[in-house]
Amino acid sequence: MIELKDKAAIVTGGARGIGKATLMKLGSLGAKLVVADMNEETTNATVAELKKLGYPAIPFLGNVSLEEDAVKLVEACQNEYGSVDILVNNAGITKDTLLMRMKKEQWDAVIAVNLTGTYLCTQAAIKYMMKQKSGSVINLSSIAGENGNIGQTNYSASKAGVIGFTKACALELASRNIRVNAIAPGFIATEMTDAIPEKIKLGIQNSIPLKRAGQPEDIANAVAFLASDASSFITGHILSVNGGGFLPGAG
Ligand code: NAD
Repeated sequence: MIELKDKAAIVTGGARGIGKATLMKLGSLGAKLVVADMNEETTNATVAELKKLGYPAIPFLGNVSLEEDAVKLVEACQNEYGSVDILVNNAGITKDTLLMRMKKEQWDAVIAVNLTGTYLCTQAAIKYMMKQKSGSVINLSSIAGENGNIGQTNYSASKAGVIGFTKACALELASRNIRVNAIAPGFIATEMTDAIPEKIKLGIQNSIPLKRAGQPEDIANAVAFLASDASSFITGHILSVNGGGFLPGAG
């Protein structure tokens, strides 16, 4: 039985997509929530939706790739709820193009949010988790970080970096009872993947052994498991949630 009664949880990039579904799930299990995002309108709308369901929720507007924002985000959680129990490093962006055309700004932007943002928020959160001697950090990697993907050298590198970061953190923090795991989603239907042309989307779906796109809730369920004591002996693990898309015979 998974429950998160009174656990304080931060979800970055929480205003929509996988982050929002994760907040809904964690809230339903009893967690107190911080919706961290850069988009004021969607952040406030998500906080209102969570509160309507009776879940405690506060907004935090900021950019995870800025150190001062990461520090203030974690402080906001501590000040509101008195602890920082769960951090979900979910904020992520893509700037897809073939390597031969990739501008340095496209490389830097993706690394800054996906990898540096994960480092900054984790570093800020463990300050409190180390004092508490407990905590669960869940990082969003990607199948592109496991396998690579054409047109995504920047994104694949950032998400492979998240995998290495997760494993090193798990080793450093295990003695303080802080667990650090990652989820590597396959193709999930969100605004991020909306931009992909319909024909290519159908091709991707057909290559997935379970023959469907993942839903944000598929990832939220995996986050809830890794956030909870049901996974108390799991750290440094990369959980692939991809409908079998990672199997050698897939596609
Ligand atoms: P999304 O684009 O729908 O939502 C991302 C959210 O992050 C947005 O609300 C955005 O405002 C916020 N955000 C972006 N930059 C930010 C920053 N610098 N600081 C704070 N917030 C910021 O994305 P999604 O599809 O829900 O993906 C969520 C995570 O899952 C990402 O890390 C993504 O790389 C990963 N992922 C997604 C898929 C997929 O198929 N959708 C697959 C693998 C991995």
